[in-house]
Amino acid sequence: MPKRKLTLTIEGETVEKAKEKAKASGISLSKIVENVLSYYADPAVYCFKCGHKFHVSESNICPRCGWYKCPKCGACACQLGEEGVRVAFYMRKTLMDIYSSTDV
Ligand SMILES: [Zn+2]
Ligand SMILES: [Zn+2]
Repeated sequence: MPKRKLTLTIEGETVEKAKEKAKASGISLSKIVENVLSYYADPAVYCFKCGHKFHVSESNICPRCGWYKCPKCGACACQLGEEGVRVAFYMRKTLMDIYSSTDV
């Protein structure tokens, strides 16, 4: 797909800080925004058990734990202990804060 221009309105301080960090890391803001939007549009995650990367849109939700099941090995939160579930919950909470959505 060809690149397209996107105009965004973002808090000034955030833009400045992000520009500085991106410059220091040698990556363009466009690439960062593209990655974020790409994830938002069609989230892809890594299986915590086998490491397989899959799109959540292609996986089934476990009726018991409510997690996306890995299409390769079938793992979901049912295979995790209490502590593992807590770690995963707060990792995901970070994503939910970033994307202002529970569908991530
Ligand atoms: Zn897996
Ligand atoms: Zn489960």
